[in-house]
Amino acid sequence: MRKRPVVTVDGPSGAGKSTAAKALASALGYEYVDTGAMYRAVAYAYTREKQKPDLDHFLRSLALRFIFGKPTQVFLNGEEITQNIRTPEISMLASALSQDPRVRKYLTAMQRELGKEGGIVLEGRDTGSVVFPDAEVKFYLDADMEVRAHRRHLELRAGEPDQAATDALERVKREIEKRDKDDSEREIAPLIRPQGAHYVDTTHLDVEGVVRVLKQHVEQTSR
Ligand code: C5P
Repeated sequence: MRKRPVVTVDGPSGAGKSTAAKALASALGYEYVDTGAMYRAVAYAYTREKQKPDLDHFLRSLALRFIFGKPTQVFLNGEEITQNIRTPEISMLASALSQDPRVRKYLTAMQRELGKEGGIVLEGRDTGSVVFPDAEVKFYLDADMEVRAHRRHLELRAGEPDQAATDALERVKREIEKRDKDDSEREIAPLIRPQGAHYVDTTHLDVEGVVRVLKQHVEQTSR
C-alpha cells in the first residue's frame, strides 16, 4: 500500500505536459519524473556507442543518472548530457528505440521503483496505462496540432530570424506528426488515453491555467 498518491500525466508532444507536471509536483510537494527524458537519454547514449552493441548488453552496462526538474539534468557515466538529449534527432531516435520491448522493460522498471512510495507526478506516454495502471489520479493532456507545433518550436529555437523560424516550424510540425503517429501505433505501450484519465484540452490554456485545472482535479479526487 502506498501512503501517498501517484499522479500520471500522459499525452502527445507539445501538449504542455512537462511544464504543467513539474509545476503540479511542486505545488503538491511531490517528486517529479520526466519519463521522456529517460527515453531520450537511452537514445543519446546509444548514439555514443561506436560499434553498436547488442541492446541487452548495452542496457546492462548503461550508467545514467537523472535529476528531474525543468530542465531534467541527465548524466551519462558522470558526464552531463542535459542539452544533448533535446535535439530533433534524439527526439526521433528516442521514439524509434522506445518501440523495443527491452528498452521499455528497462525504463518501466526504473520508473516503478522511483514511484513505488507514491507522492510523485510522472509524465510521459504510458505512465497511466502501463507504468502505474493503478495510479490514484490520471490525466491525459492534448491540444490542437498547430498549437503543439508552436510550443515545441518555441522550445527548440528561441530567437531565430523570421524566415528560418517559419521553415523550422513546418519541420517541427512534420516531426511531431510522425512521432505522434509512431508513438500511438506502436505495439507495446502505445500512447493512449488511459482508462479513468481526466482529459484536459490545453489549446486555449496557458501554463498557469493548466496547473490550476490539474491541481483542482487532484484536490477533488483526494477529498
Ligand atoms: O516526452 P518526450 O518528447 O521527451 O519523449 C520522447 C519520446 O520518448 C517520445 O516521442 C516517445 O517515443 C518516448 N516515450 C515513450 N514513453 C514515455 C515517454 C516517452 O515511449 N513514457
